[in-house]
Amino acid sequence: MDTASLIRQDAAHVLPTYARSPLALVRGQGLTAWDAEGNAYLDFTSGIGVNSLGYCHPAWVQAVTQQAGTLQHTCNLYYNPPYIALAETLCARTGLDKVFFGNSGAEANEGAIKAARKYSVDLYGPARSGIITLQNSFHGRTLATLTATGQEVFHRDFGPFPAGFAYVPAGDMAALTAAADEHTCAVLVELVQGEGGVVALDADYVGALAEFCAQKDILLIVDEVQTGIGRTGTLFAFEQYGILPDIVTSAKGLGGGLPIGAVLMRGKVAEHMGAGSHGSTFGANPVACAGANAVLDTLDEVFLAGVRQKAARLRAGLEALPHVAAVSGLGLMLGLAFDREDITAAAVRAACEREGLLVLTAKSRLRLLPPLVLSDANIDAALAVLHKVLAAL
Ligand SMILES: *Cc1c(COP(=O)(O)O)cnc(C)c1O
Repeated sequence: MDTASLIRQDAAHVLPTYARSPLALVRGQGLTAWDAEGNAYLDFTSGIGVNSLGYCHPAWVQAVTQQAGTLQHTCNLYYNPPYIALAETLCARTGLDKVFFGNSGAEANEGAIKAARKYSVDLYGPARSGIITLQNSFHGRTLATLTATGQEVFHRDFGPFPAGFAYVPAGDMAALTAAADEHTCAVLVELVQGEGGVVALDADYVGALAEFCAQKDILLIVDEVQTGIGRTGTLFAFEQYGILPDIVTSAKGLGGGLPIGAVLMRGKVAEHMGAGSHGSTFGANPVACAGANAVLDTLDEVFLAGVRQKAARLRAGLEALPHVAAVSGLGLMLGLAFDREDITAAAVRAACEREGLLVLTAKSRLRLLPPLVLSDANIDAALAVLHKVLAAL
């Protein structure tokens, strides 16, 4: 099972939709991943924000294996304990009232779009179904979420797209109020644009947006697929913006490594989603929900305070690195912009990988999404590699 033969077999049989690194990971523990040849890597990607507790956290492994040996799946015509416990925790800790479980971020956003349209169409008629999203956003790869994604590059060659989406620049309330009309049912935003380059929205803008939406009964949907589950230092990023959205989506970090997505919403929206209005065969899977319950149990207030401390230490270290022009993002969702055009995030990422540190890119920025369980020693080790790589440029 060496790397070269795995790469050959992948090329023979798997769709080449990803620009992969020449790296095959076979095992992980904490923040360390090992490749097929036994080399160790310090992982500051968390599998793009998914492994919130790192690799194979004991509480998570225990919860998942226990559930897998007890009841691995039932259809959604029956009740089972793990999803009910998860729903209760998510509602209690967000202030939202109801939740629907799917299997991914895109699916969660699809559910959010459907719930928003159902509410609006029931109350105001079929013409009020428009969704406004932000330029440079990312909401997923299904046709509706791809359409919601405000980046032209994703829209080539896959049309026709669902109707009813409009895009406005982030931070521009005038553009938003001009775009919102009698057909608008919802505004969908990421509070920190992840794939768009780790760009946090301005707090005043988000406050004004929430107020405008409330006045017009336009639903505010916050896509917390990447920002949620402790990533930004609070359970959800909206808490730091002082708002309570009408609908919040969650996925990536929620399952701690298993596929799960959630759409949380206020009761006034939820009451329109009756029997038959939405569904998912795998949604609310007991094993995935058991993993999510272990994640949320771990992410108590003391743990989240620790995340904020670690984030401050990491951010201060990053700001002091050579060639770093700016550090963007929130909590443990961080982007690095460099001070020279010829220093590309892709080249820095590749150099870090050769030095045993796994990091990501987002647009022109280097992106760090370390597991929330990282230690000060992990932070210092990552900073040392970044320093070595950047100082050589
Ligand atoms: C990753 C991501 C998605 C899509 O999630 P999938 O699980 O890949 O479908 C949607 N929105 C945001 C903000 C994301 O970061």
